[in-house]
Amino acid sequence: MTEWYERTGRIAVLTGAGISTDSGIPDFRGPRGVWTEDPIAELLSTYDNYLADSGLRERSWLARRDNPAWGARPNDAHRALVELERSGRGVTIITQNIDRLHQQAGSAPQRVVEIHGNMFDVVCVGCAYTASMAAALERVAAGESDPPCPECGGILKADVIMFGQALDQRTLMKAALAAETAEIFLAIGTSLQVEPAASLCGRAVAAGASLIIVNAEPTPYDSLATEVVREPIGTALPRLVDLILGR
Ligand code: ZN
Repeated sequence: MTEWYERTGRIAVLTGAGISTDSGIPDFRGPRGVWTEDPIAELLSTYDNYLADSGLRERSWLARRDNPAWGARPNDAHRALVELERSGRGVTIITQNIDRLHQQAGSAPQRVVEIHGNMFDVVCVGCAYTASMAAALERVAAGESDPPCPECGGILKADVIMFGQALDQRTLMKAALAAETAEIFLAIGTSLQVEPAASLCGRAVAAGASLIIVNAEPTPYDSLATEVVREPIGTALPRLVDLILGR
């Protein structure tokens, strides 16, 4: 019988906060998670609150400025996925993370689907204006506590998907296509409790993929998985990549 890692087709990888904790970026709901230690941070992530309250927006800019992702470096798990891609296998990374560590590690930007956006770009909620977060934070440092859009005067926000905000449909279609055409679907460091990311696992399995889950805690999809791995991601993922590459 063929083992899952001997399958030679496309590979989809779904990554969540757990892959970045070794890089010093805390997860959200764990014991030392962002929202556990600072409930206001969760409030900041709700779209309607953000639009309604300039005080929240001022806090949000400062939180972006102080985000640990600015100084974070990719870790062995990010690098293992780069090796997998460079081996010539068709790899698509679908990430819930906004930290850009996959691209910083060397994953091709066009092979990374950021379903929750990223924190290094800024968008206007009223027009098509975009800028870098660094430029927006320079305006904050220069005294604009909630810098408005220079084109239309509207509200600016990080290019991340907040609670209460619809996901980008084209991005979702890319993710679904990657899931449904994969022979191996790796779900790494995600609790698989947030839709639609979670149900990508089900779509992949329904389309014939072998599902491999690497997560410290149980997930709702464990029973669908060919293999569930509980060891730390920083050692588990390089080991799994070695298996797939037959070395
Ligand atoms: Zn605007």
